[in-house]
Amino acid sequence: MSEQMLIGGDWIEGTGPALESINPADGSFNAEFSTATDSEVDDAVAAAKDSYYRGEWRALKPHQRADYLFAFHHTLLERKEEIARLQMRENGKTITECRGQVDQAAGIIRYFAAVCETMEAEVTPPRGDYVSMVSYDPYGVVALVTPWNSPITLNAQKLAPALAAGNSVVLKPSEVTPGIGLEMGRICQDIGIPSGVVNVVSGRGAVVGDRLIKHPDVRMISFTGGTESGRAIARTAGERLVPVALELGGKSPNIVFADADLDKAAAGVASGIFGSQGQSCIAGSRLFVEDSVREPFIAKLRDFAAKWRIGHPEDENAQMGPMASFHHRDRIAGYVSSAIDEGGKILYGGDVPDGPEFAKGAYYQPTIVGGLDHGARACQEEIFGPVLCALPFSDENDVVAQANDTVYGLACGIWTSDFAKAWRVCQRIEAGSVWVNAYKQVSISTSFGGMKDSGIGREKGIDGVRLYTEPKAIYLAT
Ligand code: NAD
Repeated sequence: MSEQMLIGGDWIEGTGPALESINPADGSFNAEFSTATDSEVDDAVAAAKDSYYRGEWRALKPHQRADYLFAFHHTLLERKEEIARLQMRENGKTITECRGQVDQAAGIIRYFAAVCETMEAEVTPPRGDYVSMVSYDPYGVVALVTPWNSPITLNAQKLAPALAAGNSVVLKPSEVTPGIGLEMGRICQDIGIPSGVVNVVSGRGAVVGDRLIKHPDVRMISFTGGTESGRAIARTAGERLVPVALELGGKSPNIVFADADLDKAAAGVASGIFGSQGQSCIAGSRLFVEDSVREPFIAKLRDFAAKWRIGHPEDENAQMGPMASFHHRDRIAGYVSSAIDEGGKILYGGDVPDGPEFAKGAYYQPTIVGGLDHGARACQEEIFGPVLCALPFSDENDVVAQANDTVYGLACGIWTSDFAKAWRVCQRIEAGSVWVNAYKQVSISTSFGGMKDSGIGREKGIDGVRLYTEPKAIYLAT
């Protein structure tokens, strides 16, 4: 029997074509997931709408919604090992990273539980006989669409604030990793969130996702995924006139000035691209290194790449598991071939790793490519793998111009001992997050999102809940 979906508090077997989940570490079969047909998507939206208007969730007092979210946080932690292993089998992330992500997701849910009670509405300046105020109302039914690279954290990052705001939701997890979204739905049911408030449907984006976002009763769309899918979703949202939040792709620069602590910078650049197999929206995939330190810096980076431990995701010491799927590994290899065709030189890696332990899995080496022009495909398109394009620069103006010469604007790292320079560059860089002498530090209290083709809107922080509400002006005549 295929894995079921959660609709209106019931677990039902979808009648769309089943999806097979394959473990990318060895090609073994994980599970078969049933998927939704149009009418089952409609049922999920109807269940969410019905629960919203019944008011069993929306009308709860903020502390009562907070209690449920604290229970969600605790239950997720109680089931940490099981959830971590499920993600590991679905997308090949190392067990160590998966456990860390369960902690992170629980922290996200705890944060939004606290926001329920600390979020404020506004009383605006009095106008004669009127008391004027702004309250923040939930939208109603919200569609949450998520990708495969970090489903534990990304599902939590959407579910928790959308629920904290009082919405009912339909979650559509990636077809590559449906299991985590379904398990989160199960936890919401186990802790007693009323039926129909959280619904989870499985299936392909172009079919199930498309039906969901086009449904007339969906009042807001929150999407994380690739830029082209985001553009298609934005077109639908534009046509339907519903608000949409888009967290999309990136091609983030990591800038190393000659005056940086080169050892720390090399460690930061290496983990910024090889961490999470490079399958991270904020991966620092373009390295800009100042001409005068280029050779010694690349030598340090090659050392890091050579010592990066590739291994089976169950190996507690592995730093890198397989890519999320064989198809995706082949796509990454295709980008490396295109880089060579465009004049690139492999400075490290550039192939699948040697060894019988890697033969059955979708592994790929940490890879550094030099010698490319910044206009090359590999420097402009998101590869979403452990492939670093190393590029030279001569001075501050040159590097700012090159770093911004991309359609993306998600993140940026700046490595220097000159804080005045760091501040100047930081102000000129077009990116939603900038780190100085650090990379990939994130905090749930700090807003996150992209500029340019990397997205619209910001998640996390207090605004993470505002995203799922709309302001209402109220005037009370005295
Ligand atoms: P994807 O765009 O292929 O799919 C993401 C989700 O959208 C999936 O659930 C998919 O089924 C669904 N989908 C796809 N097309 C759709 C459509 N037309 N209508 C409705 N739903 C649709 O992305 P992916 O390959 O799963 O994930 C990798 C991408 O996600 C990368 O580009 C990465 O940078 C991005 N990402 C961004 C962030 C961020 O916060 N900015 C975080 C993680 C991943």
